[in-house]
Amino acid sequence: MGRLDGKVALVTGGAVGIGAACAARLVEAGARVAIVDLHDEIGRQLAGQLGGRAHYFHADVAVETEVAAAIAGAVAAFGRLDVLVNNAGIAGANKPTHELTEAEWDRVQAVNVKGVFFCTKHAIAPLRAAGGGSIINLSSIYGLVGAPDVPPYHASKGAVRLMSKTDALLYAADRIRVNSIHPGFIWTPMVEQHIASLGGDPQQQRREIGALHPLGHMGEADDIAWGVVYLASDEAKFLTGSELVIDGGYSCR
Ligand code: NAP
Repeated sequence: MGRLDGKVALVTGGAVGIGAACAARLVEAGARVAIVDLHDEIGRQLAGQLGGRAHYFHADVAVETEVAAAIAGAVAAFGRLDVLVNNAGIAGANKPTHELTEAEWDRVQAVNVKGVFFCTKHAIAPLRAAGGGSIINLSSIYGLVGAPDVPPYHASKGAVRLMSKTDALLYAADRIRVNSIHPGFIWTPMVEQHIASLGGDPQQQRREIGALHPLGHMGEADDIAWGVVYLASDEAKFLTGSELVIDGGYSCR
């Protein structure tokens, strides 16, 4: 018996990085998984590797009609929806607040905040139809503490933390649990691009960012995926509105 036998999950931003690890671990634990992303070729390839238990759906989470179509497609393919992993996110412009344009600010909120809103909005009906479920929102350590960079990103992750608590309260009576995950730095394409944008020696940058975590290094995508498997499972049946911090001790200070 797998921990997630019979469950259907949808993972946004599921083609690479944390989302891809979530898709793989969810399937391994017995779930069937809808992978949603913008990278169609990579997403389809991953779904193929996961066998008949995964399907790929294209959607920009910032576009409501595309979100609605992807969720409807997943329910049509698998017959139900039990778990939504709101993982798609972007880092956005890395400038101090007074240099940011409105468009740079808005794009990050459109993906990281409005995307979570659209996906949650359209997942509620199938989750209710399934008799309840689990919504897992990827916030960040930067939804808990500040840092002197990427202001729109940090604002968006703070919003996701509180949206999780509001929705936990709104949908508890429907047996829909809503929790946030707060990763420290995890080695993924997003962090690889962040390091490249800093300039200098990437290996040195990687070591320096790793050293911000008391455990001495960055995490890997599976460190987050195991948390997602737990929150998706019935083992977490009494958990809602909680913050699962997986950060190598970063936010202890
Ligand atoms: P990633 O490597 O950039 O992967 C995210 C995936 O989501 C990419 O395929 C990305 O496509 C896709 N995506 C971006 N915008 C989208 C949209 N509008 N609609 C659908 N898909 C979209 O990111 P990650 O590092 O795995 O991060 C996953 C989540 O964890 C994010 O919410 C991130 O903020 C959060 N997180 C990450 C870390 C970390 O250290 N990695 C730490 C804390 C929190 P593109 O490549 O085109 O953008």
